Amino acid sequence: MAGFLDSYASTITFMALTGVFAYSFYAVLMAGQLSLAQAGLASAGAFTSSLVVPAAPLFGVIPRLVVGIAVGMAVGAALAFLLGLPVMRLRGVFLAIATLAFGEVVRILLINQSWTGGAQGLSFPKLVGIPEAWLALAVVAYWFWRLGGSRLGRALAAIREDELAAKAMGIDVTRHRMISFVTSGAVAGLYGVLLAYFVRFADPNAFGFSTAVDGLVTAVVGGTTLFIGPLLGSTFLTWLPELQRAIGVEAGWIRPFVSGLLLLLVILFLPGGLAALIPHRRRRAMAHPDAPPDLPPLPAPGTPIASLRAIRKEYGGVHAVRDVDLDIAAGEIVGLIGPNGAGKTTLVNIVSGLVPPSGGEGTVVGIPLGSGVPAHRIALAGVSRTFQQIKLFNRLSALDNVLVGAHRVSRPTLLRRMVLLPSARRDEKRALGQAFAQLTRVGLADRARLPAGDLSYGDQRRLEIARALAAHPTLLILDEPAAGMNHVEAHRLSVLIRALAEDGVTVLLIEHNVRMVLETCTRVVVLDFGEVIAAGDPATIARDPRVVEAYLGAEDDQAEPA
Ligand code: ATP
Repeated sequence: MAGFLDSYASTITFMALTGVFAYSFYAVLMAGQLSLAQAGLASAGAFTSSLVVPAAPLFGVIPRLVVGIAVGMAVGAALAFLLGLPVMRLRGVFLAIATLAFGEVVRILLINQSWTGGAQGLSFPKLVGIPEAWLALAVVAYWFWRLGGSRLGRALAAIREDELAAKAMGIDVTRHRMISFVTSGAVAGLYGVLLAYFVRFADPNAFGFSTAVDGLVTAVVGGTTLFIGPLLGSTFLTWLPELQRAIGVEAGWIRPFVSGLLLLLVILFLPGGLAALIPHRRRRAMAHPDAPPDLPPLPAPGTPIASLRAIRKEYGGVHAVRDVDLDIAAGEIVGLIGPNGAGKTTLVNIVSGLVPPSGGEGTVVGIPLGSGVPAHRIALAGVSRTFQQIKLFNRLSALDNVLVGAHRVSRPTLLRRMVLLPSARRDEKRALGQAFAQLTRVGLADRARLPAGDLSYGDQRRLEIARALAAHPTLLILDEPAAGMNHVEAHRLSVLIRALAEDGVTVLLIEHNVRMVLETCTRVVVLDFGEVIAAGDPATIARDPRVVEAYLGAEDDQAEPA
């Protein structure tokens, strides 16, 4: 063992350092962001630490390293925050390009400073060996492990899977993306410091584009949806050259060739990375379906929930919604019907804050509608919804989808999870119990562990409803929930909606299945060409000649009421 450690001391240390660097990519990739600023941030962290770490060993070796790490991480995090302010609204390739450009700016700035040694680089004292590198990796891996099952970790995964749905579940997407960005900067700074004090040298040119790509490859090959990914990636890519040497293949081009090929194969055939080969962890929470709910009471029947006055929405020349007045009171099941293109989805998008109205005014669960009101605020105030085009977090299990739905009513657990506080476990058990209860309610308890994307179409619709219910909403908006369901399933859904209303949930239901709307709703509003053409109780609406005419025009097969 000692012989092995001696012969491979450098490889073993690099394995840990590569792992730390890969985690700085994992931190953003787990929230669906492709950032390439980490090499620049690592470099800035390393060089700044050289200004602060005292030259003489004032307190011995360890404290100097601790000072260096603290400075490196703080600089990495602070620069990431400053960079995040302008680039946080970018997505995908644009974010990658902007962050890569930032990395280059840092490199060029540092190379033109005398305190960094310029292109010659700077010497650093030897403060890092196998124990320090592995301790750092263990701490970082532990952080991401505990993050994974926390409320914050689930919110980040939800953003990665579907940003719009995450917003509709009350997650502040911009804030959460910034958190992952800053975390990534801190971990990159840590890597820069560890590397410099291990190789005893740093040169700004060593933190360029290819370093960033190496880190990205390690993270992606390992996997970006499970905390173990960066560990697997760094193990694999660090030992590959050793393996190569052991079998006598010395050519220098083989490592970059193999890692490039591997990246290609992983992206094509294993999008979850090596971590996807690990079987899913089983949760033990099945036993708590009856966890006591400690949720706030819903408003008393008749309390105003939504009030819209002369609400309009124009898209170019198209008047999607024109001067709509709509009042919804607690306990109602309001049906919204109308032919295709009548403006139903636009109207509920306005109510749920996803689309700002062009004119008019309104209040939903006490929040005034307007262009400055983010959708997650309305969701947090008690509006939950499903989507016409199903928007689930496809790679998360059905259970995790519902747990994300409970974001609004659950407490943050990350810091308590870090120190293994029993109260965090209790909160988690309760959240799991409630999530199972919602899945049971829509008939999906036996499919709780399946990835949402693998469920059948009807099950996905039901799962969206369970996810929306987990938020304990005051107002539940269902956008064509019966689409694709047969009559039996639609009837079952109708029974569920009425049961929810009895429990005090107010429902706004868009549905083309007029039979189901008339059977379910307490009041029906009919839209046509963006205007309300009729409103009233189901029996009155069923006889209204304008309704029959509007429906006969577009949907003759479903125009006949029950
Ligand atoms: P469907 O039953 O087909 O879902 P709908 O009643 O929900 O229809 P909306 O989707 O709200 O109707 O569309 C109303 C009108 O607004 C349509 O003419 C549509 O083309 C237009 N529209 C909706 N969203 C947009 C958008 N983002 N950009 C431009 N036009 C839009």
